[in-house]
Amino acid sequence: MALIVQKYGGSSVKDTERIKNVAKRVAAYRQKGDQIVVVVSAMGGGTDNLIRLASEINKQPSEREMDMLLATGEQATIALLAMALHSLDLEAVSLTGAQAGIITDEVHTKAKIKNISPREVHAMLDAENVVIVAGFQGMTPDGRITTLGRGGSDLTAIALASTLEADLCQIYTDVDGVFTADPNLVSDARKLNEISYDEMLELSSLGARVMQSRSVEFAKKFNVTFEVRSSLNNNPGTIVKEETDSMEGVVARGVSLDENQAKVTLVGVPDKPGMAARIFSALAKGAINVDMIVQNISHGSATPATDMSFTTDKPDLLKALKVIEGLNREIEFTEVISDEGIAKVSVVGVGMRTHSGIAAKVFETLAAGGINIEMISTSEIKISVVVESEKGEAATQQLHDAFFLSKS
Ligand code: ASP
Ligand code: MG
Repeated sequence: MALIVQKYGGSSVKDTERIKNVAKRVAAYRQKGDQIVVVVSAMGGGTDNLIRLASEINKQPSEREMDMLLATGEQATIALLAMALHSLDLEAVSLTGAQAGIITDEVHTKAKIKNISPREVHAMLDAENVVIVAGFQGMTPDGRITTLGRGGSDLTAIALASTLEADLCQIYTDVDGVFTADPNLVSDARKLNEISYDEMLELSSLGARVMQSRSVEFAKKFNVTFEVRSSLNNNPGTIVKEETDSMEGVVARGVSLDENQAKVTLVGVPDKPGMAARIFSALAKGAINVDMIVQNISHGSATPATDMSFTTDKPDLLKALKVIEGLNREIEFTEVISDEGIAKVSVVGVGMRTHSGIAAKVFETLAAGGINIEMISTSEIKISVVVESEKGEAATQQLHDAFFLSKS
């Protein structure tokens, strides 16, 4: 008898038909005699709806009340799924995050799980139930409801699989797994059989939006192997696990496109010690996420100056510009230019550690396509370029062709 944790995302439970479909899938596993813990999200679009309702009432709702509100989405799904399983004559019981023993810190709307006391989950499993746990939510030690950040049901599932030492952790969604590129953009994108945590992390933070990054970080830290697969068919999905030697044999694992960034350039920043420190600590203090940073060589000899560019998430752009303008009193740069019309395209793969010439191949491919590169950044397993936003999709397609279709 195996213990299986299954997580069904919003698209897999978006209406009552889909919930019944999930119940049938769960039943099929249960009939093999396995113990099943099911984690569910709110019904597709449900969380966005609740957020919209809140914003119609108060532009800056209290975060405590926001958590109280958002947690209701998942609470509806767990009860409906339990009812669907009862209709199939299966014993099933639903538990909120708190009832499942998920204790978090006090940071409302993006709480971290501190520990899980799975006593109730075990008791319910021992009593032959399918146990259905509300994803995305927990409770502070003093009993306030918290949520784990958008996409947080993934984290609930991975953390439960770790605590329960599950034999299998399956993350169900509406696509067959993780692909070499977004199949909506690149028609010949291929499903991957396996991928390492680090590659998955790069892809999910790069706009591939397959899973919540924090959940993948958690899986890496506690070495939880999991499978991303579709709830709409029986195809095997993508196994996400620790890196193996054979993974390094493949140069690139995937190409991703992030259209959610903006670029800010400070022109004529005095070239002297402490400028970058001043600028980026002010941004950090404003809780503004900075991704790529490029500093040019300095020009002018009497008072040398340099240009500095960085990218940030589009929704943070206005905040970032405010912070930068505030700095102009102490740092005398000449001008700030911002540009929302950019896209970041990245090629990711642990094979880059052992293969050379990957950067050259990226640049040659884009050159051949007549695509201008505005910024470049690299890490051990990733090469990212910023291009004009209209060229983002073409760049993704061309890089995918170059790395995944050519025979060489
Ligand atoms: N319902 C939450 C969200 O939409 C959590 C989740 O789906 O994972 O972000
Ligand atoms: Mg999700």
